[in-house]
Amino acid sequence: MTDATREIGFEQARALEERYLMRTYRRAPVDFVRGEGALLWDAEGKRYLDFLTGISVCSVGHCHPDVVEAVNEQSQRLMHVSNLFYTEPMARLAERLSESSLGGRVFFSNSGTEANECAIKIARKHAHARGVSAPEIVSFESDFHGRTYGALAATPALAANEALGPMLAGFRAVPRNDAGALREAVGEGTAAVLIEPIQGESGVFPISDEALLAARQACDEAGALLIFDEIQTGVGRTGSLWAYEQTPVRPDVITSAKALGGGYPIGACVTGPAAAEVLAPGDHGSTFAGGPVATAAAIAVLDVVDDPVLLRRVRELGAYLREKLEALAGVTETRGRGLMVGVGLEEGIDAAAVGADLLGRGLVVNAPRPDSLRLLPPLVIDSDHVDHAVGLIEESLLAFRGR
Ligand SMILES: *Cc1c(COP(=O)(O)O)cnc(C)c1O
Repeated sequence: MTDATREIGFEQARALEERYLMRTYRRAPVDFVRGEGALLWDAEGKRYLDFLTGISVCSVGHCHPDVVEAVNEQSQRLMHVSNLFYTEPMARLAERLSESSLGGRVFFSNSGTEANECAIKIARKHAHARGVSAPEIVSFESDFHGRTYGALAATPALAANEALGPMLAGFRAVPRNDAGALREAVGEGTAAVLIEPIQGESGVFPISDEALLAARQACDEAGALLIFDEIQTGVGRTGSLWAYEQTPVRPDVITSAKALGGGYPIGACVTGPAAAEVLAPGDHGSTFAGGPVATAAAIAVLDVVDDPVLLRRVRELGAYLREKLEALAGVTETRGRGLMVGVGLEEGIDAAAVGADLLGRGLVVNAPRPDSLRLLPPLVIDSDHVDHAVGLIEESLLAFRGR
């Protein structure tokens, strides 16, 4: 299929990118032009099954008709007025987010990293109110919280990049799932424990109940806040609206983004009662955040995802997907919850090469580490999609094991 609205082809786009874009990404050589549900099409008309969804963004499927309609409708009426005025979609979305989770207040942002910046400000101000002069935020070593300087400081693997220094002070990390080290790191000076309940970018590693319970207890004893970064795990990805619902703890703050707008950029920092009143006028803000189009899109997304039938399907299909993957030669383990799945590969198989091979075969996945694939399919897939994806992964692994 060719698209009459396109003015340049793939090679020209590639040449422009090569000349004009900063070299912050290594892109795969595909030029997607259309998406519908779980499917994508490139400029040559080749069809792909998308088991990555723009890194868990298009969880309701590409161009979900309800999201498209909400964006169309709202963008024809009013696109932006700023946070100096009231707009209805923002107020309605705040209610939805609060009432579906921690019950406190919401701050909107435009991205995940900005949602975490808000959470970090809340944590620091909350600590200052208890008389802590140099508040510290504790995370796990392989956590990912974003790329602005605050969130970056809580992302140890990236904060180690000295060329970007100096890093923000007041952050500390302990080994993943080390409940003892976490307990020891949290004390009087701790403002918050900021963690992903399931680490996504580092390869899909769920945090153990033991470590989560240790974090909750240590925060309670120190008067610190427990913050869950649910930017990847939230909005239904794990088979509950929020991942914390399937853990034994309730955080004080959660951050959301990625799937929240169904492809439209939006983030949110949602508090429980303990953190709801911390920020005051002047403490934080954003020109674009909470705009009518983004919040209308997010309401449409929640209308689809906040549905017990869909969420049960996510848990069932996730279990089915993992069972089928674990039966494949070349797969050593699967990790995750719901439709957030890490796939461990046999030693000697390079996950990035498998990912590139799968793209050629028409399946979009990614390889967050050399020994693992990550699958983040749309939450609206059915078992035929799973069978098709697993069949392609089987073929690919067969080819790599034969080498
Ligand atoms: C993607 C992600 C972020 C950063 O979100 P951006 O929208 O890229 O800023 C932060 N935390 C987690 C857990 C993420 O997966």
